[in-house]
Amino acid sequence: MSDQTKFLLSESDMPKAWYNIQADLPFELPAVLHPGTKQPIGPADLAPLFPMDLILQEVSKERYIDIPEPVRDVYKLWRPTPLYRAHRLEQHLKTPAKIYYKYEGVSPAGSHKPNTAIPQAFYNQQAGVKRLATETGAGQWGSSLAFAGSLFGIEVKVYMVRVSYDQKPYRRNLMETWGAKVVASPSPDTQVGRTILAKDPNSTGSLGIAISEAVEDAVTNAIPTKYALGSVLNHVLMHQTVIGLETQRQLDMAGVYPDVVVGCIGGGSNFGGFAFPFIGDKIKGRASNTRILAIEPAAAPSLTRGVYAYDFGDTSMMTPLVKMYTLGHDFIPAPIHAGGLRYHGMASSICELYRAGIIEARAVQQRATFEAGITFARTEGIVPAPEAAHAVRGAIDEAIKAREEGVAKTIVFNLCGHGHFDMASYDRYLRGDIQDYELPQSVIDEAQSALPQV
Ligand SMILES: *Cc1c(COP(=O)(O)O)cnc(C)c1O
Repeated sequence: MSDQTKFLLSESDMPKAWYNIQADLPFELPAVLHPGTKQPIGPADLAPLFPMDLILQEVSKERYIDIPEPVRDVYKLWRPTPLYRAHRLEQHLKTPAKIYYKYEGVSPAGSHKPNTAIPQAFYNQQAGVKRLATETGAGQWGSSLAFAGSLFGIEVKVYMVRVSYDQKPYRRNLMETWGAKVVASPSPDTQVGRTILAKDPNSTGSLGIAISEAVEDAVTNAIPTKYALGSVLNHVLMHQTVIGLETQRQLDMAGVYPDVVVGCIGGGSNFGGFAFPFIGDKIKGRASNTRILAIEPAAAPSLTRGVYAYDFGDTSMMTPLVKMYTLGHDFIPAPIHAGGLRYHGMASSICELYRAGIIEARAVQQRATFEAGITFARTEGIVPAPEAAHAVRGAIDEAIKAREEGVAKTIVFNLCGHGHFDMASYDRYLRGDIQDYELPQSVIDEAQSALPQV
């Protein structure tokens, strides 16, 4: 029994390799299909968008892939990240459970996203790429890539969804501070953007439109340019496994193995990066009773209410087709939804693990999520990002259940980012301006009818 609050690793304890769950999955991931021919794609199809090192990681079945030395050197700016025991939250909940949280908000961008932005910038630099184009919604991914580009001498162009560009100026300022060029999407800089603006000069944009613009930019720019994605892809989730690998060592220091592992899911990157090493144990029979729990918003419930089908990754139907739980590629989250995690689909590996019953998923409402975020801030101090507050909600619910059942479970969750740029959402909650929202079944049914025929 120890009163220790922080479990800290030294730089030399930082993982030297990422964990690739594809080596251990008890099934094959469904083939990714070409959007035109509907035939399985090969590395050559992705070459215009990504450097070959990342394409090979996407399909690799090697269990461990070495983290290049220059990437580890940058990781040292904030890694290893701390694991905390949530003593005050436990006391507040009067739970016999032990609650631990891994904190990724200590990165320069304030979230887990630089864990993949840094290697993506590195491999692109190695391949002679001079420029990266990407999209961003609220700006978390755009700012992480801007930071990474500044360290590896790569120009970064960010297509930022118009509504966020106007409403969230500070993330834009952050990207510009790191030297990125940020434009509101739809923009006059691409054919896709110009076509949309011609029809609707006041378009507020969408993630789907911004993806289409960034892809067009990468494929057509005269300067060698590639595209970068901050979630969903296998290589992105793999880069994030530094989170779970460190957590396992830190829990060893604390002398515990978790009964419940909790994370929030949008496209699956922080959840996958945190949970995959535990899932690997579970698949190999080491931790067969450990439950792995993904928390999503009731306003965008891909896993719990989505359709399992081939769908596009973007609204404009330009990306390859992935078999996944999807709300439909033209799904637009309700405007009252303030909680982040708005993506219509989900990483393929997460979907297959859910289908196989290896992980569980639960959807939570907005108000309960912000309430959990505020409880956490008032007990542990850190203000969680609204996305991270979903994981806090999941962990608190498990701790309450442990109290009711009188079991001293060990719960660990990923606090994937801080909420310092999301105070407008907290402001709305504190003023009583956040409502719960249940996605109507008719919206899901309609989305199903728009799925591509495969
Ligand atoms: C981007 C982001 C998410 C959602 O993306 P995932 O790929 O599901 O992790 C969640 N939390 C934070 C803090 C983010 O920046």
